[in-house]
Amino acid sequence: MREGSLEAPTRHPLDWKNPEFYDAAQVEKELGRVFDICHGCRRCVNLCTAFPTLFDLVDASSTMEVDGVAKQDYWKVVDQCYLCDMCYMTKCPYVPPHPWNVDFPHLMLRAKAIKFRKGIRFRDRLLSSTDALGKLAAIPVVAQTVNAVNKNAVARAALQSVLGVHKDRELPPYTSERFRSNFAESRSFPVKDGKNAPGKVAIFSTCYVNYNEPGLGHDLLALLAHNEIPYVVVEKEACCGMPKLELGDLEAVDRLKQINIPVLARVAKEGYAILAPVPSCTLMFKQELPLMYPGDADTLAVRDAMFDPFEYFVLRRKDGLLKTDFKTPLGKISYHIPCHSRVQNMGQKTREMLEAIPGTAVSTVERCAGHDGTWGVKTEYFANSMKIGRPVFRQMAEPQPDYVASDCPIAARHIRQGMGDEAKNAIKEHPLSLLRKAYGI
Ligand code: SF4
Ligand code: SF4
Repeated sequence: MREGSLEAPTRHPLDWKNPEFYDAAQVEKELGRVFDICHGCRRCVNLCTAFPTLFDLVDASSTMEVDGVAKQDYWKVVDQCYLCDMCYMTKCPYVPPHPWNVDFPHLMLRAKAIKFRKGIRFRDRLLSSTDALGKLAAIPVVAQTVNAVNKNAVARAALQSVLGVHKDRELPPYTSERFRSNFAESRSFPVKDGKNAPGKVAIFSTCYVNYNEPGLGHDLLALLAHNEIPYVVVEKEACCGMPKLELGDLEAVDRLKQINIPVLARVAKEGYAILAPVPSCTLMFKQELPLMYPGDADTLAVRDAMFDPFEYFVLRRKDGLLKTDFKTPLGKISYHIPCHSRVQNMGQKTREMLEAIPGTAVSTVERCAGHDGTWGVKTEYFANSMKIGRPVFRQMAEPQPDYVASDCPIAARHIRQGMGDEAKNAIKEHPLSLLRKAYGI
């Protein structure tokens, strides 16, 4: 048996409609098999807290092997995984097509799906309902009240004891000026398709941009307009489903897919590039939904039309169709590439684009920051999320940057919080906002 696979990694479709997918005994058997491989390997020990949890259980057991670990303790490992995919992508030599067939994140997902069916906390259901939560919290007056509560120490202590949202976690503000109700219509530029990317864009705005940081959506539209790329904002959208997937609620993912895919497939077939400004949402359409619906032509059409915004801009630049009339140098940027961007296998497109701006130096940090969508918000995981992020906070602060940026706005907030006073003058800014600033538009 070879030590590791030499072939390109592949991923098996998720067999989530098969009743056996939810068979707890089968999953425990598979957890035992994979944990045993991981125990013999231990490459992933410093990636997250799932692996140290497993190895501590093994080392404390009577046999010092996986067979000495109580099966109910397997689920402690599952709880520590937030499905960033980094073990699969960056470390594991035993992923398919290797015969050992280790896909640690998807095994965790299967286990989470079983846990979900057994019942989960109201808090977890609420936090993963980003669309419903956003709709409610973005109502005028409600938005101001929610934002005030989020900043009030007494209210946060109450929120922690009632809902399990850690009192020290900085939460994103809500806005009543939703992106989807306030965006600027596109001017009528001629469509210039390039060799590498289509010349017209459809925007899937995402819950986060719609309800929390609409400015990112406006920045993206301004960049498209400056480059004379016509755009539409898709007529209807729901959450991409990633927060529900991370919870193992696959039926909810299915419901959201039924809303999004027909709308997105229509624009994909009309030749639009679809851009989503949050990496986890892009990944959902590029990878997770195609693995859940491998034979669904519409899902695959959406996958093929979906671009990360910087992936799109770099391809347009390659086609000679992106302006480079930058006016403002940006100085030093500490840039964090989120796990869900790395998993898209597209290279470091944001870094490439920012480095093309004269007078701009980018130092890139390629490590998990440890927040994940909702994981690092929860009381029981907050400390671990700050611990996982510590090397990132340190590396981001080290160059004394002018700006701190991550494609994931949630990771960026977490990183800025973790950096504290280490880089006092560094401004947190999204790469899209930085690119807009560089163009002076
Ligand atoms: S997917 Fe991420 S969080 Fe889960 S075990 Fe792998 S590295 Fe850890
Ligand atoms: S996921 Fe793969 S690389 Fe990581 S510890 Fe397990 S076997 Fe080793």
